[in-house]
Amino acid sequence: MKAIVYHGKNDLRFHSDYIEPQVQHPEDVKIKVYYCGICGSDLKEYTSGPFFFNKPGTTNPISNLQFPMVLGHEMSGEVISVGFGVTSLKVGDKVVVEVTGTCKDKHRFEESPAKDKPECGACEDGHYNACDNLALTGLGFSDGGCAEYVVTTQSKLIKFDEKKIPMDIAALVQPLAVSWHAVKVSRLEEGQSALILGGGPIGLTTIFALKGHKASKIVVSEPALARRLLAEKLDVMTFDPTGKSVEDCVKELRALSPGNHGFHHTFDCSGISSTFETSIKCLRIRGTATNVAVWAKKYIQYSPMDTTLSEKIVTGSICFVKSDFEAVVNCIEAGDIDVNELRLMITDKILLDNGVKEGFDELLSNKEKHIKMLFTAYRELL
Ligand SMILES: [Zn+2]
Ligand SMILES: [Zn+2]
Repeated sequence: MKAIVYHGKNDLRFHSDYIEPQVQHPEDVKIKVYYCGICGSDLKEYTSGPFFFNKPGTTNPISNLQFPMVLGHEMSGEVISVGFGVTSLKVGDKVVVEVTGTCKDKHRFEESPAKDKPECGACEDGHYNACDNLALTGLGFSDGGCAEYVVTTQSKLIKFDEKKIPMDIAALVQPLAVSWHAVKVSRLEEGQSALILGGGPIGLTTIFALKGHKASKIVVSEPALARRLLAEKLDVMTFDPTGKSVEDCVKELRALSPGNHGFHHTFDCSGISSTFETSIKCLRIRGTATNVAVWAKKYIQYSPMDTTLSEKIVTGSICFVKSDFEAVVNCIEAGDIDVNELRLMITDKILLDNGVKEGFDELLSNKEKHIKMLFTAYRELL
């Protein structure tokens, strides 16, 4: 089958004859992938990995697999065959894939090095999104969705109604689940205000997750004009921090908050020291700053009194769990997240065959031109 395969840093290859996966275990489900999106994590593996993929000479601690492996973890598709133990799905169902690979999955792999080991603390507590061994289908755990087909287990699949969620929009459910989880971690309540720092793909999906949680005022701070314009189409207020000090940004942003008292919530979707500082200083009393960005591993300055004096909370959110996918699907099906607004996120659809050059390389050289690129193996789906 056709696939885009990760062979290591700076080495992505299109294969026309990659081995097609088959149902092997009773609970396996084979899916025809309609669309697969790519994101910053894929690009990072490409330019400076491996991070989620195993280091050369090692294997994934749960699946025991190693790259070369198919990339892609944001997929929508159709069930085309099922193992005899599959009870929750049938051929023809349209699905999205919850892509975590964690201690919870070790039973699926005969050769799992973790087979006789206890689950990590996060998995034991049910928070498998924060597993010590976290990797994703399409990101180091097993073959992903930049391909014609993918095989996973039935518990990882969420069915949706194609009449309410078109197949291309369904490929956005995974990035939406990242933001949905972040809003859940933040404990935002209906009617509360929120400031998003960074209007890239995750900043934008956070707008939708906030709308789904019925937030009141939403403000997005983003330097790139094209992204601000897109955010404005989603009916939120925007702010341009270009050339301004943190102090000025904080002053001007707080002036946009309800009653000028600061926001109930901030979401850092940029991950630089100035956005971190802004995310705390723009909060109102007892507000919560949630970091959603993936930071480079470095230390920054932070004064504990910035949180103590107003009893603010600083937290962070990683990945998602299945219930986040289910909530996003329910929200779109109910119309609480608008399909036409979601469509604004899709800036291009590309044939898998041309994906390395027109997808990955294009994204690297013209990052701000694009929000979400979708790959498909099928010309008729372009
Ligand atoms: Zn992603
Ligand atoms: Zn674990």
